[in-house]
Amino acid sequence: MTDPGKSPEYDGIVIGAGFAGLYAIVKLRELGFNVLGFEKASDVGGVWYWNRYPGARCDCESYYYSYSFSTELQQKWRWSQRYAEQPEILAYLNHVAEQFNLRRHILFDATVERMVFDERANRWTVTSSRGTATAKFVISAAGCISALQKPDYPGLDAFAGELYYTGAWPHEEVDFSGRRVGIVGTGASGAQAIPIIAKTAKHLTVFQRTPNFVLPARNAPMDPGFDDWVKAHYDEIRTMCLNSPGAVPFEGSKISALDVSPEERAAVYQKAWDRGGLRFFVDTFNDLITNKEANDTAAEFVRSHIRSVVKDPRIAEMLSPRSHPIATKRPPLGDDYYATFNRPNVTLVDIASTPITSFSARAVRTAEASYEIDTLVLATGFDAMTGALLRIDVRGRGGLALKAKWAEGAKTYLGLGVAGFPNLFTVTGPFSPSVVANMPTGVEQHVDWIAGCMNYMRSHGLEFVEADESAEEGWVAHSAEVANATLYPQTSSWYVGANIPGKPRQFSVYLGGFSSYREHCERVAQNGYEGFAFGR
Ligand SMILES: Cc1cc2nc3c(=O)[nH]c(=O)nc-3n(C[C@H](O)[C@H](O)[C@H](O)COP(=O)(O)OP(=O)(O)OC[C@H]3O[C@@H](n4cnc5c(N)ncnc54)[C@H](O)[C@@H]3O)c2cc1C
Repeated sequence: MTDPGKSPEYDGIVIGAGFAGLYAIVKLRELGFNVLGFEKASDVGGVWYWNRYPGARCDCESYYYSYSFSTELQQKWRWSQRYAEQPEILAYLNHVAEQFNLRRHILFDATVERMVFDERANRWTVTSSRGTATAKFVISAAGCISALQKPDYPGLDAFAGELYYTGAWPHEEVDFSGRRVGIVGTGASGAQAIPIIAKTAKHLTVFQRTPNFVLPARNAPMDPGFDDWVKAHYDEIRTMCLNSPGAVPFEGSKISALDVSPEERAAVYQKAWDRGGLRFFVDTFNDLITNKEANDTAAEFVRSHIRSVVKDPRIAEMLSPRSHPIATKRPPLGDDYYATFNRPNVTLVDIASTPITSFSARAVRTAEASYEIDTLVLATGFDAMTGALLRIDVRGRGGLALKAKWAEGAKTYLGLGVAGFPNLFTVTGPFSPSVVANMPTGVEQHVDWIAGCMNYMRSHGLEFVEADESAEEGWVAHSAEVANATLYPQTSSWYVGANIPGKPRQFSVYLGGFSSYREHCERVAQNGYEGFAFGR
């Protein structure tokens, strides 16, 4: 293992050892850079290390929710399911770490707490809970959905039963049998966990603040014939990902939901529903996120499905989202989600109208009732997009704190660089396509671009690179303009930080499409890194 005390000088320090951090180490090392990774967890995996809750799995299909950088890796690795479950994705990332001998570059159980840029030396000093190192560059691969959000419910400390967060799940198996379980949160994690927990718990009480549109995943074992086809066509599949707005290997629909008859529309939705997955939004119509009237047709299709599955009309209505357009919150995938609410051992509680008011040793109390609970699961999400980086005390030029710079909202140029913070790169940072595109593809594109920039600097004898303030302002304004042409920003979601008290409301994902974003980044590099300033 690398000891930063022994060799404290690096070309690059990488924060995080998930999909992004691991690939950054591969790439930098390949280019002959001396690299050190800091990882808070005890091992590699990122979200797949932390999110071990029952039912955790990806909602992009595994054959493209995976790395493309190694032909050998993608030809040899066999996914057992359409959407691999957490243990399999973690096994994959462990395999990558072993195959490419990455662990020796990473310091585990090392939380980066502070990093300071020295303007005279053009070096970052990075302080972690396990020691300090310096490097010319810092690559933050700290994740978009990695800063766990612990809700400050009044009196939660009084609860004496077992308490689990889906985003920091224990490594030992949690046994729900014979237990009265409560779960708070019906986002992507809650929707995956609820059907599984309901099968073993004595009773499951679901505390729901906002109902979500849960689409069927239709997970299934990987068809060997399809797997062979994928392996024979991987180059085309990856090229399609690079050229698609969502970094996925599908052609998007070219028709409006309003240009077809109600019967045709229903048939299109039904076909996509039967196929399963987030492809629903790609395969059906091209205006679901830009036109409320079009969006309403998809929302109503899902609501009618809820009514057809859930036997109690009152529960069906409680589960039917009415307050936000479909897809403007991350749509969860879940098989058997709605049918779970027909089970006699499942209770649904609306905590929007009857909020949680207090806890006792074995109960959750709302404004209306008290629910006996032995095990409480909090699927309450993350401080997304900016949380991981802002939990580090980052100091740029003149001691400028990133927290101060982003006090009114994040600002970046291309989601890759921040004015005032030279030689700091952010993988899938705010205002990149990040969480609205298939992330391994986005991660590889960012890391390749960053490594290309570092290489350019080395060959030109350059000591620092920094985003121009005007380029940054322009990119943030352009991103806002693109976002405002969609229905996304209207919805109070984690995309806009609405789940974090006091967080400035801002839609910090670039919605112009992954393919055009990638092309834009390439043009910037070809034009001598337009919008970035360099110094010797
Ligand atoms: C349950 C779940 C399912 C998902 N499914 C999909 C999907 O199907 N498709 C998709 O595209 N995306 C999905 N995502 C989004 C996911 O974030 C990305 O797919 C991907 O894992 C991002 O990889 P990453 O390396 O950028 O970040 P992460 O995997 O989040 O890794 C970041 C790492 O940085 C570490 N870190 C953070 N701060 C510090 C610090 N201060 N010091 C040291 N280490 C630090 C963390 O411990 C973590 O290990 C999912 C996310 C979750 C939570």
